[in-house]
Amino acid sequence: MQQELFIYNTLSRSKEKFEPITKGMVGLYVCGPTVYSDVHLGNCRTFISFDLIYRYLLHLGFKVRYVRNVTDAGHLEGDRDEGDDKFAKKAKLEQLEPMEIVQKYTVGFRDVMREFNALPPSIEPTATGHICEQIEMIKEIIEKGYAYEVNGTVYFDVEKYNKEFSYGQLTNRKLEELLEGTRELSGQDEKRGRLDFALWIQAKPETLMKWPSPWGWGFPGWHIECSAMSSKYLGETFDIHGGGMDLQATHHTNEIAQSQACNHKAPVNYWMHTNMLTVNGVRMSKSAGNGFLPGELFTGDHPLLEKGYSPMSVRFFMMQTHYRSTLDFSNEALQASEKGYARLMNAVKTLESLKTASTSTSNITELKQKCYEAMNDDFNAPILVANLFEGARIINSVNDGKETITVDDLQLLKTIMHDFVFDVLGLKAENANAAHDKALQGVMEVILEIRKEAKAKKDFATSDKLRDELAKNKITIKDTKDGVNWSIEE
Ligand code: AMP
Ligand code: ZN
Repeated sequence: MQQELFIYNTLSRSKEKFEPITKGMVGLYVCGPTVYSDVHLGNCRTFISFDLIYRYLLHLGFKVRYVRNVTDAGHLEGDRDEGDDKFAKKAKLEQLEPMEIVQKYTVGFRDVMREFNALPPSIEPTATGHICEQIEMIKEIIEKGYAYEVNGTVYFDVEKYNKEFSYGQLTNRKLEELLEGTRELSGQDEKRGRLDFALWIQAKPETLMKWPSPWGWGFPGWHIECSAMSSKYLGETFDIHGGGMDLQATHHTNEIAQSQACNHKAPVNYWMHTNMLTVNGVRMSKSAGNGFLPGELFTGDHPLLEKGYSPMSVRFFMMQTHYRSTLDFSNEALQASEKGYARLMNAVKTLESLKTASTSTSNITELKQKCYEAMNDDFNAPILVANLFEGARIINSVNDGKETITVDDLQLLKTIMHDFVFDVLGLKAENANAAHDKALQGVMEVILEIRKEAKAKKDFATSDKLRDELAKNKITIKDTKDGVNWSIEE
């Protein structure tokens, strides 16, 4: 089936029919995490939204080169051109090398993404691995006349750029408006214009991560890494660039300026921005103190959480709101998602044992069409979910003997449910007995404690009885020097 996909483009502020530059091959770049601390659930929302987008493009049969960078250098406090490097600050705090910080949080980020069943990108380039490319790009911007150096720091000249291009195009703002919202320069400032931003920053004696450059020892500004890496792997103009909407006004605006200054053409055809995860209406962030970690969410170990929620119920919770709408966290919403997720998974299981008839009471072809229509309308996952619930309703009705389905329709329904639940929404079956496992773990701890006390009192009759009774139930216990291990015979 030929599908026409429409994407909301931040740049044109409208939904546009998706036409890739190269037929069948899509270039997708998403700004990745800054790996100086753990990602919170808000960050995860953005990456899971793009996982859905990536998955649907793959489902439509596109080959996708999905590049998601890792920011492991050059990120200053407050995202300005001054202040401490976040990596160095954390390295000092934790008494580690900056690259140990990078390694620790990169590994942590990948583990979390795996828990959420997010597909790994095709390339995960790092800022530190692309210093040469960034220096080359800065040299080119200087040569073309859009940047200048002061005392080993290179600044992008926004006002000069704006004479030929529109600097505020992504947020639809005029330069004058942007200037109004920026503080006046003081005598201490090196830069010429209020909106000028650093491409390269001179190292201070205490700077830990620094590299030699034509302007002396220093490190790249934050925005240049994405321009350098996206053009290296996807070309001077590529299809889709995404990130959270908080990146639009500065990071992405500056990315466009840098690339356009070099190549005199727009770097991206479709800009996509995801909306924020909020808690009681406040954006989740590290600084607001409302940013709980995925691990805390899974265990329930956070004051905001009434209990733990499994990765798939959280993923499903995210799928039930469109990526361009805010998503407010609440225990009630997550508990509803837990139930909804279980309902879908049970329906998929029931599909396998449905009996067929000579007629169908529901229109399965229409259901399939509605699933595609939802996703083709700017990846409208909540509408897709509503249609999958309709699929689940039909399955349960047929199972209860209230409705009938033909062999062909059953096959089609299986395809719809598998394609959209697993491949597109990226859900997977979780251990349905997670709650039982937790309970068993608790019971075993109690039994082993009683056994320990019995042994301490030299009551070997009791301790042996406990071991033998457990063995009868296929649970083996082993005394080791580190304590008692137990396992279940398969
Ligand atoms: P960072 O590691 O801070 O650079 O953020 C990584 C990504 O998470 C960026 O695309 C941000 O826009 C996004 N992000 C940060 N906070 C939130 C939030 N509360 N909800 C959704 N996305 C967020
Ligand atoms: Zn970026």
